[in-house]
Amino acid sequence: MISSAVPSDPATAVPSGASAFQALLEELHQRHRERRDGAVADYIPELARAHADGFGIALATADGRVYSVGDTEVPFTIQSISKPFVYGLALEQRNEAWMRRKVGVEPSGEAFNAISLDPDSGIPRNPMINAGAIATTAQVQQLAGHGAIDLLLDHFSGLAGRPLEIDQAVYVSERDTGHRNRAISHLLRNAGVIEEDPEPSLDLYFRQCAISVTCRDLALMAATLACQGVQPISGRRLLSRGTCTRMLALMGTCGMYDYAGHWLHDVGMPAKSGVAGGVLAVVPGLFGLAVWSPRLDRFGNSVRGIAVCEELSERLGLHLYDQNPAGHDPIHRSSNGEWMQSRRLRPARDLRQLNATGERLRVLQVQGVLDAGACEVLLTRLEETAAAADLLVLDLGRVVELQVSCRPLLRRQLAALEQAGTEVLLTPVDLLGADGGDAAGADGLAGLRWFESLDRALEAAEDLLLERPTADQPRMDQVASGDGYGELVESLDPTVREVIQPLLHSRRFADGEVVIRRGERSDCLLIAREGLYETSLGLSPAGTAGPRTRLATFSPGMCFGEIGFLGDTPRTADIVCLGGGSCWELRRNDFEDLRRDNPEAACALLVAIAADIGIKLARASLQLCLLELG
Ligand code: GLN
Repeated sequence: MISSAVPSDPATAVPSGASAFQALLEELHQRHRERRDGAVADYIPELARAHADGFGIALATADGRVYSVGDTEVPFTIQSISKPFVYGLALEQRNEAWMRRKVGVEPSGEAFNAISLDPDSGIPRNPMINAGAIATTAQVQQLAGHGAIDLLLDHFSGLAGRPLEIDQAVYVSERDTGHRNRAISHLLRNAGVIEEDPEPSLDLYFRQCAISVTCRDLALMAATLACQGVQPISGRRLLSRGTCTRMLALMGTCGMYDYAGHWLHDVGMPAKSGVAGGVLAVVPGLFGLAVWSPRLDRFGNSVRGIAVCEELSERLGLHLYDQNPAGHDPIHRSSNGEWMQSRRLRPARDLRQLNATGERLRVLQVQGVLDAGACEVLLTRLEETAAAADLLVLDLGRVVELQVSCRPLLRRQLAALEQAGTEVLLTPVDLLGADGGDAAGADGLAGLRWFESLDRALEAAEDLLLERPTADQPRMDQVASGDGYGELVESLDPTVREVIQPLLHSRRFADGEVVIRRGERSDCLLIAREGLYETSLGLSPAGTAGPRTRLATFSPGMCFGEIGFLGDTPRTADIVCLGGGSCWELRRNDFEDLRRDNPEAACALLVAIAADIGIKLARASLQLCLLELG
């Protein structure tokens, strides 16, 4: 976290090596601190005691870094900035339809403290004016009763990321002088918007306005809205996405009192200000911004707060309606089975078959946020794939988010692919299922096949390619049967083979048996006869508790354990037998004898082993290369 409490001194130079972002905020602070126009609110007597020249700017990023300049740790009362947050809480506790019967969503065009209701609907016009805010707070009060203030404080504390308290002096001051708000609350009671004694709700409203916050707290509260309800430091979801969207929309149209239109026009951020001098603004998806400076303009907004937000919006291009054309291509890589191969090492004959048929397998690796724009590009690419391939591996491992609204579209496109005869294999986690409503199957996609990793999906696709030859690409010779010695031995000259074969001892392994153990002496090399032999790292992808990462699986006919054997170094990984099977084993002492008694045969064997290593190395290099390409 970057947090530098720089004193409000114009002479304070930007510390060398500080981030340019921090420097920009400091520059703004330095310039706007010269402004002395506006007046501190005094209609709540206690507010008049505020330090008129106090000035802080804090910006919290979506990943939880906080930049701060000036008086960002000085407490002040949240006042009207509490309104969208209490509205959000009420929305979550009740629901949209319920709340719409209590308060509207239209800008009012009247002062924030107007003693009036919408003449048509008989309810307050929106939750950002006092009438709407008191009506909203009444909902929380009615549901939570005596626990309401703790509920509010808990919620606000979660958003700010630290325990917040009420400024008792400000609360008492407003409670004792807030006759206008008292009048509003009784008006609401009279109109039936509040259905019980309005006094407890009014009292809760005065307390919520007196919650003491700092600029930094507000920046984090704003950042939580920028992150669709997830507090960026704690990672806790405190509001649903839908609630955040509604809060932001209301802040956009009604958050800055009678300046809201100007604000949206010039600054273009959903925002809310309070009479204690706070301004909270949100750049959805990016930043939460807060400015505190108690001198207010005639609309009741902080003079410096407006100026800073205006300039920052301009300098960083943050206006909501100033967006780059999307055009985000979500395809990280599009390749085929010739390039993308699983870590299942197969004998040369299978490899030849796969190379010859690799074009039938298309591999699409998708990345980023799949919103409607990116999804449309992906659907187009899938459509092209239908014509070109029999098999598709769709790797969604780099997808940060698949918007719920796009899931049915993607499912439908995949169903169309399958109907057109292209089999679809997906990885790594089911992003397409969990959205309720449009159940899988309803759109023609009975069951999607998901694999835990790209590697496993590729392996399954390769199995399908090997199993299902096409007319023009018939199945090549079958792999040597388990009784043979496998390609490595069979590639040897018959005279050499005669010498070698008696040195090979058959060893059986049960399913799951450890064939080679990490750290052990390497006293033999093995040639797989039957079964698969898998070596994996104890690592799960990205440190998760997911599947182990496999390094390689050796198929019948392949040699393994040769590296430790030839170098006489300890085993570097475990190798486990899958499904039970047997191997040929060449022991070190037999090999040493061979080198001494028949160096020519030993040399021929070494050449064959070198060729086998070469195949594996070529594969590993290709994988490394692809990795580097990103
Ligand atoms: N507590 C204040 C009031 O109701 C809040 C107003 C505001 O910040 N605009 O008057």
